[in-house]
Amino acid sequence: MTSPPPQSTRSLKICIIGAGMGGLTCALALAKEGFQDIHVYETASDLGFVGAGIQLAPNMSRILDDLGVWKEIENEAVVLRKTSIREGATDTELANVDLGYIEETYHYPHMVGHRHSLANGLYNGCLAQKAITFHFRTGVQRVLSFAPKPSFTAVPRDSPDPYTVTCDILLAADGIKSVARGDMLASLGLTASVIDSQQAAYRIMLTREQMASDAELLALIDAEAVTRWIGERRHIIAYPVSNKRIYNLSTTQPDVNFAAAPSETYTTKGSKSAMLEVFGDFCPMVLKMLNMVPEGEVCEWKLRIHEPLETWIAGSTALVGDACHPTLPHMAQGAAQAIEDGAVLGAVLVQLPSTSAESINKALRVYEKIRKERAEMLVELAAASARNLHLGEGKAKEERDRMFKELRDKGGKAPVPDKWADADVQKIVYGVDCVKIARENFTDLCNSV
Ligand SMILES: Cc1cc2nc3c(=O)[nH]c(=O)nc-3n(C[C@H](O)[C@H](O)[C@H](O)COP(=O)(O)OP(=O)(O)OC[C@H]3O[C@@H](n4cnc5c(N)ncnc54)[C@H](O)[C@@H]3O)c2cc1C
Repeated sequence: MTSPPPQSTRSLKICIIGAGMGGLTCALALAKEGFQDIHVYETASDLGFVGAGIQLAPNMSRILDDLGVWKEIENEAVVLRKTSIREGATDTELANVDLGYIEETYHYPHMVGHRHSLANGLYNGCLAQKAITFHFRTGVQRVLSFAPKPSFTAVPRDSPDPYTVTCDILLAADGIKSVARGDMLASLGLTASVIDSQQAAYRIMLTREQMASDAELLALIDAEAVTRWIGERRHIIAYPVSNKRIYNLSTTQPDVNFAAAPSETYTTKGSKSAMLEVFGDFCPMVLKMLNMVPEGEVCEWKLRIHEPLETWIAGSTALVGDACHPTLPHMAQGAAQAIEDGAVLGAVLVQLPSTSAESINKALRVYEKIRKERAEMLVELAAASARNLHLGEGKAKEERDRMFKELRDKGGKAPVPDKWADADVQKIVYGVDCVKIARENFTDLCNSV
């Protein structure tokens, strides 16, 4: 951590909308930097739906470690040694890529964990900071002003009376359906809308007990590997979490069920028979796992993204995480990027030269400068990677499969069509330390915005 900021900036009142990965990281990073008056407003009564796996890439772990919460999260996580990419229909291995090199190169291994561990690790870190006050069951209805003192309407779930909150800095980490984003764009006379990816995902967690009596499934949960089965317009990614007690599967398939639904709908109870039909031509091992999902417990998510925004900043207000760069999950970087946002905000705001609204706006624009291009590049890469994995018969698929063959022939040392596993892409994603950039280059960047 850098040396403490002058007293006057440290006592600025900072409000955060949303206690997701982005909001929790903002709160913790700011408290660790010495800010004393931090308020988090969250609609839900607790940390919400967290029942799924999540990849813990080195660019995320480095920040969590810096914030003092990594050890608790790491305890339950599983190290990934390799990734196996297979044809969905036949289970034939197209590529086997080593991930073991990642720890030597980036100082943290690539791990996978339970979202619950990640959210709770961050939350417990926040609870240890007396500077942070949580306002659960309190939704933000409208952002009323963005500068010089941002203000918003807060609506407690248990009371009919909304109230207005005013602060010095407002950080809106309210997710893909962000209310703050809409209000900010309207105040700036800008427009940008949600993009329908036409993809949906089933998220499945099987227990070790369910898999234990089947040797080939036991081998899957015991392997320290991510397995991806790919097919035309669909794939399944799977890995063990929670000290290999749970096997997490996340699918992607064309959206049928949400297509006609209003844009507010993001999750729904899915039908098991529809799920089995979508993956009906996948190999028996995959079908065996899908069949284990209890009837009535199929959960389907709509995958939506957003047009790139012209700006993430208005006055003393900034957007954070999925509110400004929601992504498809195919690079496994959505939460990691929200966490980078939060940590960079801590690193720039601690260097505020004064408490003036001008200086706050400049610091927020430095945050945007460090983060926007990178986050948007990853959003595009995730979409491109899926297009490549989901190819049907034709020239493009022939070229992709030639690349997989080259990768096999060269013992894994060639470009990987599954972009998150490509060493050159990993260099850009894991090898760039945004927080270090913010700490070391703040003054120069301030002069350039
Ligand atoms: C299928 C799938 C798989 C994924 N896998 C990975 C992965 O492996 N690795 C990875 O890094 N990322 C992954 N992601 C992406 C990741 O989950 C998100 O990018 C990340 O959770 C975004 O965090 P956030 O804090 O910006 O938003 P959110 O997690 O959406 O949090 C927003 C919070 O704000 C609250 N809120 C919303 N509106 C209001 C309001 N008006 N007032 C008060 N509170 C409000 C919400 O209740 C919520 O708690 C995946 C996503 C999907 C869909």
